[in-house]
Order: sequence, then structure tokens, then C-alpha cells
Amino acid sequence: MAQTNSLPTKFLANNEAWRPGWTNPATMVQIRQSGTAPEGPLMIITCMDPRCDPVQFLGTGADGKPNTLFASIRNPGGRITKDTMRSVLTLRALNTISEGGTIAVVHHTDCGMTHLTDEYIREKALARNPADDARINAIEYGCFTSEDFEETIRIDMRTLRAESYVDGMDVLGFAFITETGELKQIFA
Ligand SMILES: [Zn+2]
Repeated sequence: MAQTNSLPTKFLANNEAWRPGWTNPATMVQIRQSGTAPEGPLMIITCMDPRCDPVQFLGTGADGKPNTLFASIRNPGGRITKDTMRSVLTLRALNTISEGGTIAVVHHTDCGMTHLTDEYIREKALARNPADDARINAIEYGCFTSEDFEETIRIDMRTLRAESYVDGMDVLGFAFITETGELKQIFA
């Protein structure tokens, strides 16, 4: 007999408890027109790790809402890969206020990507589905070592700057120190 997943009950109960504080947010039409040059619009590309949440590390106001309006693109490691560019291009098209704006790349210490290698991810995937080897081998997973941590941020900043699709945007880099919560700017 299949085990019953208790998460839906928890999700709905937590949502019901949280919902009274929710106020109707801006519409997408309003969001598309918001932000001021040169800082806005702002995209943050960071890791999907729950410890690396930009809403948390960029702080919230007294009302509990984020200090900064931004779109976040989260993936393993916060790497600039082909799937990241899909998000960047979509966000650029949604922006109606300027040809500029800012993209910030944020990687973090003790990232899961430093605990894996591309070869190991491929090995695990191939063990599950050997017939799908062409697709598995074609994916760039973007693992890196903890020694290369800051250099990987610089590499991704340079990769972004080399993309003609982000022309006019300011590319920034930051390291989030998972253990202390500190955010450090990285220059490339
Ligand atoms: Zn990570």
C-alpha cells in the first residue's frame, strides 16, 4: 500500500495561517513598469539551496516584505547555463522601463555543487536511465570545487558580460557565506 504523503495537509494549514497577512500585490503590468535606472530592473541569479534565499540575505523591512524588488533565477549553484539564459531573456522581455538594469550572480559556500562532480551526476542519471545517455551527457551541470568558489563567480560574471543579450545591463557578483550570513562583493 502506498504511503500517504502528509505534505498537502501541512502546506494547506500553513498557508491558511499565513494568508491573513497577505496584501494584494502589484499587478504584472505595474511590476513591468517599476524600478528606477540604473539599478532597476534587478535580476538575482543564485542557488536553489534553501539556505541561500535572496529574500532572506537582502533583508526585509519592518513589514516583513523584501527591501528590494527583484526577480530571482535559482538553479544548482546559481550557474550561468543554457537554462539560465531562458530566464534572463524572458525577464528582459518583461522589462518595459529601460534598456539597462542589473544582474547579480550570487554563489554560496558549502554549495551542494562543491559536493558533486558533473561525472558523478551523469553516472547516477545513467544508472537510472541508460537509454537516455545522449541527453544526460549533453547537459552542463556546472559543478565546482570549494577552492574555485570565488573564481566560479568571476567566470559566470564574464560569461554573462560576453552575452550580447545582456548588453546595457550591469553585471555584479557576490559571495554569500552560508555559515555567517555575510554577503561579499566579488569583482571581475
Ligand atoms: Zn548551492
